[in-house]
Amino acid sequence: MSNYQPLSVEFKSGAGAWLTDVDGNRYLDAFSGIAVCGLGHAHPAVQEAIADQASKLIHTSNIYRIPLQEKLAEKLIEHSGMDKVFFGNSGAEANEAAIKLARLHGNNKGINNPTIIVMEKSFHGRTMATLTATGNDKVKKGFAPLVEGFKHIPYNNLDALNEVAETTDDIVAVMVEPIIGEGGILIPDEGYLKAIRAFCDEHDCLMILDEIQTGLCRTGEWFAFQHEGIKPDVMTLAKALGNGVPIGACLASGVAADLFQPGSHGSTFGGNPLAARAALAVINVLEQNKLELRAIELGKRLLDGFKQSLSGIKGIKEIRGKGLMLAIELEKDCADLVGLALEEKLLINVTAGNVIRLLPPLVMSDDEADEVVSKLSGVLKKYLS
Ligand SMILES: *Cc1c(COP(=O)(O)O)cnc(C)c1O
Repeated sequence: MSNYQPLSVEFKSGAGAWLTDVDGNRYLDAFSGIAVCGLGHAHPAVQEAIADQASKLIHTSNIYRIPLQEKLAEKLIEHSGMDKVFFGNSGAEANEAAIKLARLHGNNKGINNPTIIVMEKSFHGRTMATLTATGNDKVKKGFAPLVEGFKHIPYNNLDALNEVAETTDDIVAVMVEPIIGEGGILIPDEGYLKAIRAFCDEHDCLMILDEIQTGLCRTGEWFAFQHEGIKPDVMTLAKALGNGVPIGACLASGVAADLFQPGSHGSTFGGNPLAARAALAVINVLEQNKLELRAIELGKRLLDGFKQSLSGIKGIKEIRGKGLMLAIELEKDCADLVGLALEEKLLINVTAGNVIRLLPPLVMSDDEADEVVSKLSGVLKKYLS
């Protein structure tokens, strides 16, 4: 179908932060397939785990116990402090599970018209419920009627949150990205998540964190909520979890962890042996190399590098980032920069119209990071001159 408009480059292989096209050209990847290949391409440990598992057992269904899935759940619980995990195959599915948990929580409290508070500029997926939750009209256009029960408020605005609470007693959850990704790498004020945590405690509603883009060491902690010393009731993961093998997860703690009972939710593929084995390999590499610390170091190097090489350049609004979620915001729309960078053999992304978004692999070397800075700065200087 015509829902994508792919660039014409065709990649045939990859290694680390590099991709090779069918003509043998090499490209430096500062986007990681939308924050998916956090360990770079063809990571030996992940590739060996997948190959070995494929030769033994790929799928059995959740009709039977899946020891690899249980092991993976234990690992995620160990690092997050959450209590239980449901596995699906994508971010949208993980968020669907989270939304269903919020509805069940409300139902148990006798709330008939549950409201989930969500944010403007957010992105939560493309299924009917998750596109409704998403705070971007383009994603919803033509798909009405949408799902009921979502209320959008401005991001990073606690007054707006408290105002909603004054008009309704039907709030069952607040669903939020710790850093807005697709919406333009928007980093909220310190204390924002902590305040949402307090709000959710006060109103007995679930705090749902969409960590699909921020999770798994990218921002400098295993999960972005750990920067604020809080714990959500529900957290969703996907993107980097399988380093390219599709897998999503919805984690829950406390009362939220026991809302699903046999029959309330399910997935045919979710958490199958192949996907679970790939994700276990990913987690092992993250642990062994302490990549959350590397994300801080590398992110700082990139941020400092850009601030230095682009200082005084007209047309740049802001350079910002946390760990390896980086943005260079321009004063004008700049979608054509993706193609211009591609000509220089550099893979970047432009989102929200005027925001260059960089999501480099956590395994990138210092030299490669410096090359990203010099290449992109060169492209930008020419573009803005
Ligand atoms: C990518 C993303 C999703 C959707 O994930 P899919 O796997 O494409 O369904 C949801 N939320 C956030 C924050 C994302 O970055």
